[in-house]
Amino acid sequence: MDGTGATRGARAVVIGGSIAGTLAARVLSEFYGEVVVVDRDEIMGVAGPRRGAVHSVHAHGLHAAGYLILTELFPGLLEDTRQLAGLTIRDFGGMRWIFDGRPVKPAETGLLSVAGSRPVLENYLRNRVAALPQVRYEQNTDVLSLRTSADRDTVLGVRLRQGDREWDLDADLVVEASGRGSRLPAWLAELGYERPDEERIKIGLAYTTRSFRRRPGTFGPPQAINPVSSPAFPRGAFFGQAITGDCRVSLTGMQGDTPPGDTAQFLDFTKSLPAPDIHEAIVDADPIGEAATFTFPASVWRHYERLTRFPDRLAVLGDAVCSFNPVYGQGMTVIAMQVMKLREHLATHHAPDPVALNRALAETIEDPWLISTSGDLEFPGVATHRPLKTRILNAYLTRLRYAATKDPAATTALMRVNGLVDRPSALWRPGLVAKVLWLSRDLDTSRRETPVPVPA
Ligand SMILES: Cc1cc2nc3c(=O)[nH]c(=O)nc-3n(C[C@H](O)[C@H](O)[C@H](O)COP(=O)(O)OP(=O)(O)OC[C@H]3O[C@@H](n4cnc5c(N)ncnc54)[C@H](O)[C@@H]3O)c2cc1C
Repeated sequence: MDGTGATRGARAVVIGGSIAGTLAARVLSEFYGEVVVVDRDEIMGVAGPRRGAVHSVHAHGLHAAGYLILTELFPGLLEDTRQLAGLTIRDFGGMRWIFDGRPVKPAETGLLSVAGSRPVLENYLRNRVAALPQVRYEQNTDVLSLRTSADRDTVLGVRLRQGDREWDLDADLVVEASGRGSRLPAWLAELGYERPDEERIKIGLAYTTRSFRRRPGTFGPPQAINPVSSPAFPRGAFFGQAITGDCRVSLTGMQGDTPPGDTAQFLDFTKSLPAPDIHEAIVDADPIGEAATFTFPASVWRHYERLTRFPDRLAVLGDAVCSFNPVYGQGMTVIAMQVMKLREHLATHHAPDPVALNRALAETIEDPWLISTSGDLEFPGVATHRPLKTRILNAYLTRLRYAATKDPAATTALMRVNGLVDRPSALWRPGLVAKVLWLSRDLDTSRRETPVPVPA
């Protein structure tokens, strides 16, 4: 029910019970009598790896904008998550960020972000949502298809399968949140709708993650060290050390340079990072468990907002719409922004308007897509057209990152945009532009060395 006590229907069904499905269910519980979240995995109480979200074992951080939304949707989140082993709440600007091979000046930005184990965060959020009286999770259950009216204009529910059993579940709204592998484009085509245009930027990214138990006295206090990959230093990493001394290291390689899982080779790879202390931290540490590798061939945006015809009572969000280059850590925050758009839409529409909703949801994608694809397009091997806007933004961002190696105020400006708190347009404030140009006057913009050989 919304604040007026009005309901938008008896039941909403959500396909996928990961981050997008869970956050959507939180919002839908305000408008529908019952919310059923269907996931093909066993998910309740699971705070570790699972088949339907294999990527979630790699380093994940929730940006400041996402954190702020979650604190609104989940009162007490800060106190609760501080107690959870595996999560660390830090000032975003206080982490050690290394861009273009150079450490930026740390800054107290006042922007908190949640870093660490994504399965732990996801499990916490799911438990909170499952505790809502309107919400029910249907686990180990596959959504096979959408059910529609005879004229195919309206979605009426879903067809489900659990083991040998198949059944129909009616719904007044179906929210598709089944992630990057979403079958919605194919379902739409079967129903006689157009598939969305798909924008793909091939980056050939790979993550390999290992955890280590540090020997006492071999390294400093808990910290995060993030050398972010760039054309000059295509190899990157996310190093996060918990209070226990255990640390998780996700190594990243671009354009086919997959970081190896074998411990000795993993350590060798860390020697090629522009952050020697990552190697120092783990060289004498004990590996915990196995390495995990995830390959991410391309950033993908399915442009549902361009469709002028879309079934009634259907919505789609999360990675099912757009999956960003993960090194920018945007996915979960954009999902948080999308569920707030969904909430706003349901509060202002007696019945959801699917075309208007797709357009509203796409607004949350535009800036993060510009930020992350601008970064991708800096890599000479990423084959695509580079619009003038991207080239200008990239040239300016290079200078801003350099200015941030000298001045914490530049770090703050950068982090507010990277944390999706400010729009990229905030970077063009005349005072900031003047400062950036002044501080970067000695930047050698011809510097394009690649210290690590990257396979073609
Ligand atoms: C290596 C890596 C690192 C990342 N790091 C970050 C980061 O630091 N910060 C950040 O914000 N984002 C990060 N991301 C992005 C983030 O993980 C995604 O944006 C997020 O997982 C998307 O959530 P989702 O719920 O849309 O989809 P998913 O998490 O992919 O979940 C989809 C769910 O749907 C279920 N499902 C699928 N099909 C069906 C079906 N037919 N029936 C029933 N259930 C189904 C699956 O079991 C799964 O639970 C990273 C991504 C990767 C790959």
